[in-house]
Amino acid sequence: MAAESIDQPAATIDCNQLVAKSLSRAGITHMFGVVGIPVTSLANRAVALGIRFIAFHNEQSAGYAASAYGYLTGRPGILLTVSGPGCVHGLAGLSNAAANAWPMVMISGSCNQQDFGRGDFQELDQIEAVKPFVKFSVKVRDIKDVCKGVFDCLDWSGSGRPGGCYLDIPSDVLHQSMTELEADKLLNDIENNRKVENDKLVNVVSKEGIEKAISLIRKAERPLIVFGKGAAIAKAENEVKDLVVKTGIPFLPTPMGKGLLPDTHELAATAARSLAIGKCDVAVVIGARLNWLLHFGEPPKWSKDVKFILIDIDEGEIELRKPCLGLVGDAKMVLKALNKEIKDDPFCLGRTHPWVEAITNKAKDNVAKMEGLLAKDVVPFNFLTPMRIIRDAIIGLGSPAPILVSEGANTMDVGRSVLVQMEPRTRLDAGTWGTMGVGLGYCIAAAVASPDRLVVAVEGDSGFGFSAMEVETLVRYQLPVVVIVFNNGGVYGGDRRNPEDITGPYKDDPAPTSFVPGAAYHVLIEAFGGKGYLVGTPDELKSALTESFSARKPAVINVTIDPYAGAESGRMQHKN
Ligand code: ADP
Ligand code: MG
Repeated sequence: MAAESIDQPAATIDCNQLVAKSLSRAGITHMFGVVGIPVTSLANRAVALGIRFIAFHNEQSAGYAASAYGYLTGRPGILLTVSGPGCVHGLAGLSNAAANAWPMVMISGSCNQQDFGRGDFQELDQIEAVKPFVKFSVKVRDIKDVCKGVFDCLDWSGSGRPGGCYLDIPSDVLHQSMTELEADKLLNDIENNRKVENDKLVNVVSKEGIEKAISLIRKAERPLIVFGKGAAIAKAENEVKDLVVKTGIPFLPTPMGKGLLPDTHELAATAARSLAIGKCDVAVVIGARLNWLLHFGEPPKWSKDVKFILIDIDEGEIELRKPCLGLVGDAKMVLKALNKEIKDDPFCLGRTHPWVEAITNKAKDNVAKMEGLLAKDVVPFNFLTPMRIIRDAIIGLGSPAPILVSEGANTMDVGRSVLVQMEPRTRLDAGTWGTMGVGLGYCIAAAVASPDRLVVAVEGDSGFGFSAMEVETLVRYQLPVVVIVFNNGGVYGGDRRNPEDITGPYKDDPAPTSFVPGAAYHVLIEAFGGKGYLVGTPDELKSALTESFSARKPAVINVTIDPYAGAESGRMQHKN
């Protein structure tokens, strides 16, 4: 051994650095979170290693951001939180990732191991708390286990059906250190093993399944292709397009599947949704669950004889929906295999087929009716007039299309049918869980995940309120996000109670659905140096959109909507 290496102390690395280094070696480039005891150094170390840390006001929004980042990039979004309450707030993000099947890892500090059970600062059994929402969780009890913990969480969250994972690092572990040599050896070993594991993951699509699927499609009289966010996360847009073009079968995207193929495609059945799902006899469902959003695949919305071909990465999902023909695997791979075997046109269509004609005619009729309603300038604004103006402004931007974020009841419902999606993964909404409060977190995730795109949020005032403080985050990082608030003074809108029902000592209180009328949401962003607009007429809205879209700077457009326009509970009235 050389003399100087005996004299010189070995270089050491602390645990915060080690976590950051592990994340960086795993290819992580962004983190979302709220710092504080004991994770502040971890965030700083990550930044020093070239990871962008987006600091939020609330872990709930940061968690929603991490989940959406996972969806948009296909790589786990990382959420960093403090112990106890920080971890609990972060559960919002983890649960949203679980419900939507999006890859995400939450990393929380936790209290000292020696003091656990004695009422330590922010003490909580965090592993127990995250249990219902994660695919995998681990508490690292020593610095030696940190690298493996990081890689295991990342690998689990993205494998099979994506979802949330959790890494717990007690504060005493965060204060441990090791030599750099030890750290590098640990990381090298993990990386080598991981490569071997990944090489084993060659997904084989069942040939028999493909043949059965083709035979079903060939015999179908009224086939339909449905695709959802599983196809989107698989980046299967080219394969979906090939299938549609090769077979001539009409298609229906789920809300976030919208854009995989342009909404304006001649085989889009979106505007003839009831007919398409009500009358189809074979439905090829790609990366979309037959859950409430697709009426469970059951009558009365679907015909009782419809045969489903389900393409899903999760075998459990296919088991759950049996009887059906299941093709287990990544949507892109399965579709490649399917398209390869479709030699001659199995459904042999084109627009002359009666089923395709029925769908396209119905869609044209419905579009014409809707355009009639949209063409009117209604002031005070209903939902349709401002939505048409926003749609036209978005279309005017061309490509790259902006990422649209949408939440609310009427605002989201109307937006889903009026706004046009032309490119894959450009729509984020309340999703499988109907989560309200995702707005600003999703906007921030979209802006950092796709820096070439503008982000446009169209939100109800109540949805906006959940995460409104994060407009400061938009301004701080100067993100190109324009938030349009449909302000009708509350949840669903004005006070719609029957006067006879309003009794009791608090009868003079505002309705549980009401907010301060005419709330100046545009002023909120101005408090931080962003741009605010208050608009109530078509011209005012058009000019605010033109200016803010070209500025590509944080802005809030507060759109005054008639408080009595729209339906109570949007389209979910029967459930409220
Ligand atoms: P949507 O809300 O658009 O209908 P869902 O979230 O209900 O979509 O369904 C998405 C489905 O996609 C899930 O069942 C999930 O297992 C599946 N999935 C996720 N990733 C992939 C992939 N790479 N290939 C195929 N299916 C996938
Ligand atoms: Mg409202």
